[in-house]
Amino acid sequence: MTYQNFSLNQLQDIDAAHHLHPFTDHKDLRGAGSRMITRADGPFIYDSEGKQILDGMAGLWCVNVGYGRHELAEAAYEQMKELPYYNSFFRCTTPTPVLLSKKLAEVAPAHINQVFYGSSGSEANDTALRLVRHYWALEGKPEKNIIISRHNAYHGSTVAGTSLGGMSAMQSQLGGAVPNIVHVMMPYAFELAEPGESDHDFGIRAAKAIEDAILEAGPENVAAFIGEPIMGAGGVKIPPASYWPEVQRICRKYDVLLMLDEVITGYGRTGAWFAAQSMGIEPDTITTAKALTSGYQPLSALLVGDRIASALVEKGGEFFHGYTYSGHPVACAVALANLEIIEKEGLIERVRDETGPYFNKALKERIEGHPIVGEVRSFGLMGAIEIVKDKESRARFPDEGTAAVAVRDHAIANGMMLRATGDTMILSPPLIWTRETIDLAIERIAKALDLAERDLRK
Ligand code: PMP
Repeated sequence: MTYQNFSLNQLQDIDAAHHLHPFTDHKDLRGAGSRMITRADGPFIYDSEGKQILDGMAGLWCVNVGYGRHELAEAAYEQMKELPYYNSFFRCTTPTPVLLSKKLAEVAPAHINQVFYGSSGSEANDTALRLVRHYWALEGKPEKNIIISRHNAYHGSTVAGTSLGGMSAMQSQLGGAVPNIVHVMMPYAFELAEPGESDHDFGIRAAKAIEDAILEAGPENVAAFIGEPIMGAGGVKIPPASYWPEVQRICRKYDVLLMLDEVITGYGRTGAWFAAQSMGIEPDTITTAKALTSGYQPLSALLVGDRIASALVEKGGEFFHGYTYSGHPVACAVALANLEIIEKEGLIERVRDETGPYFNKALKERIEGHPIVGEVRSFGLMGAIEIVKDKESRARFPDEGTAAVAVRDHAIANGMMLRATGDTMILSPPLIWTRETIDLAIERIAKALDLAERDLRK
């Protein structure tokens, strides 16, 4: 059965009859019908009408090597023929997760040498939560189990991911979060800095909120702090340079583990393998997924630092946790081939030295001056555009989110896929973008801003 035998309308009807989409208002979807993406190549996706759209989001922050990579399809095909599946429970393993673990230990910060696999970022964060609590129990301190996170953080959609995350709408449907998780302010200067407060001082104040939470709970009860180096789904919120060094200092001072969620920032997006390296952070765990396979296969890897890993080995005792697909041989084969492409094509260096700086300059010079833009910011190939009604006061348009959705809809109609989160436009393109691709994107975004402004000021 191939989908080509069905018309777009037929596929939309079947979709409406049988398919519940993630993060979707289904009443709304039934009215509008879904957008059908049928193929993709390089930086472009194509819908069922053949319309070409430049993908400013790399799918969902994941397709770092771009679309149409036959090497990845071949890696999967060869592995499926040889050994499509076997597990890594009960003292077994298969070759590809072994080799991938070695590769990940090579590219991760020096003190990180062990890997635990899952199929999604959410699963990896579930593992991380359980692992840090298990660590403190092994150390004879089971009461040290509170995890500090941040408002508006995104750590996935499972019960553990939602509990760790700080999205109030998600939490409101949880009906009971995992206990002992507390949330503090985010390092979001655009909205939270006091008038006249420098970026540096704001970063220190946002880090101090973590120290305050540790002291309130009692350091002897706090297991870890978890954070995205740059908050992604929350709106590409880039902390001031003062923030992470201060967070690191505070965690060390109170012997609190530092967990980084690099599901978005991992594998080149910030111009290094991991944001930990771009920002000089030394975490105890790094959660990764998405670009580990560039989205060609579902796979996540929790990178585990030596401190936790040695406790597992030295103290022993089973860690009662794992998934059928932990270390899936096909997903790991695709990850190995994907990391090889990233290395062979110098994509990380390109982001660091060329396209990252060019992207930032293009946003600053050609987008920030727009009358409905309050701020642009970027780090590597991750960017945000704040939509405002009034540049000076930074007042937003009425009905939160409406303005950004207007920009997004005009952008998509003009062949540019980007995402709206609240009143922030976000961008996270494939790392294969060149200066020319960036120019094309900027041109299309500028046009969408003009058209949205015309509608919004009516
Ligand atoms: N952590 C972060 C920082 C994410 O951005 C995401 C997904 N957007 C996740 C975790 C969850 O990953 P998944 O959707 O693969 O479960």
